[in-house]
Amino acid sequence: MQDKRQFYINGAWVNPAKANDMPVIDPSTEDEVAVISLGGQADTDAAVAAAKAAFKSWGQSSVAERKDLLGEIKSVYKKRAEDMAHAISLEMGAPIEMSRAQQVGAGSWHIGGFERALENFEFQKPLGDHAPNEMTLYEPIGVCALITPWNWPMNQIVLKTIPALATGCTMILKPSEIAPLSGSLWSEIMDEAGVPAGVYNMIHGDGPGVGTQLSGHKDVDMVSFTGSTRAGRLISKNAAETVKRVSLELGGKGANIIFPSAKENAATSGAMRVFNNSGQSCNAPTRMLVHESRYDQAVEDAAAAANACAVGPASQEGKHIGPVVSEVQFNKIQGLIEEGIKEGARLVAGGLGRPDGMNKGYYVRPTVFADVTNDMTISREEIFGPVFAIQKFTEEDEAIAVANDTDYGLTNYVQTTDDDQKMRVARQLRSGMVEINRVGFGQGSAFGGYKQSGNGREGGAFGLHEFLEVKSVSDWPM
Ligand code: NAD
Repeated sequence: MQDKRQFYINGAWVNPAKANDMPVIDPSTEDEVAVISLGGQADTDAAVAAAKAAFKSWGQSSVAERKDLLGEIKSVYKKRAEDMAHAISLEMGAPIEMSRAQQVGAGSWHIGGFERALENFEFQKPLGDHAPNEMTLYEPIGVCALITPWNWPMNQIVLKTIPALATGCTMILKPSEIAPLSGSLWSEIMDEAGVPAGVYNMIHGDGPGVGTQLSGHKDVDMVSFTGSTRAGRLISKNAAETVKRVSLELGGKGANIIFPSAKENAATSGAMRVFNNSGQSCNAPTRMLVHESRYDQAVEDAAAAANACAVGPASQEGKHIGPVVSEVQFNKIQGLIEEGIKEGARLVAGGLGRPDGMNKGYYVRPTVFADVTNDMTISREEIFGPVFAIQKFTEEDEAIAVANDTDYGLTNYVQTTDDDQKMRVARQLRSGMVEINRVGFGQGSAFGGYKQSGNGREGGAFGLHEFLEVKSVSDWPM
């Protein structure tokens, strides 16, 4: 049993002001594998005070100094990659091969994106020829509270801590209390890389405790949050009193529109995309909209993909999917599958209960519903499990309208080989990202949503801007 009760404050590992133990459960076995402590107001205040004091010098640090530090962090992260892969597998159930390649890999990818963005980033820019001697300065916003979820722990932690460091901010990270081991290990990495004391601090805690204390704290200048829309709303309300900046990366309910000219394997690859990470991705394409000419085959292919998708423990090597993160999530997903059946959707693969032969661990059967309509609960709510819904459409306009008929707007997917259609449809979809034909996004592209998927943009130069204030200065000597 690992003891991870300490917090990282002001460059040292410290005990919580008051013990408040919480077990960490391995979702593959339901065993307790570690213990953390949930922080309280005194821990939050100590971490914020350390970050505030450190901002005086770190806020004035040079870009060269910050670039060197990013390089150090990258090399220590690489050295600890295997430890990180195991920590993530254990805390949230990502199968070890996937954890190495995707969960840990996402962290390295984003560090690279920020290094590239820093190369050309202008922290001061003349306004223009019409206003000689006016300079625009981009300055660190100050003390940042970084609150992250459990589903892609390193992806999220890197997308917040690295741009905060790179812009000269200081910070308090509060990782998910459900998956806290990767956050503790990240703190070891920051320590070994030589981040100056107080610049980076980490406390474990839950939403009603440390999360709320941070979002309401008068000495916190910004909250960067990734998680549910529900928590995003609470954070915004609580932060309003102190008028701090709030950047939100929230849930999604992405459509995957399969047009007549789509590649033959579009439905199969769309299904696999949902099942990856056991469906626990905010950008999962969970509403498959299929043109009537391709519908029957797509349903057959999606069901076959679900039936072929192996489920197993995270510690096992191989290409299977793991359990979902917790009993709470397991029960929520079961409830939504039940709701889909009750509301009349046609279950074509998977269904209620654990996969055959499994009676322990939070394993969900890869599940596909067909003949779904957009008013059904499974079309509207984020399920966050290996479950998706297929709907039929006839006209392009109808597909776009259905795709946009959601409170969310994170990522939509388009499958077509018709170039005019690609551009026409991409322009009309109300989401922060439109992925076409499974062509991945480049390093440093903007990640974020429209509508109730949030208001932030993470990654590369977009992610640096999130942590900067803009200052206009006149009579600047040129
Ligand atoms: P969650 O909202 O329950 O928790 C996320 C984090 O917020 C945790 O650290 C939690 O302790 C904290 N928190 C909860 N309530 C809080 C409050 N009132 N004040 C302050 N902090 C609070 O979400 P989760 O279950 O950990 O993660 C899953 C959700 O995250 C999904 O909705 C998913 O779509 C979303 N997500 C979004 C993105 C994105 O970039 N848009 C990426 C990954 C996950």
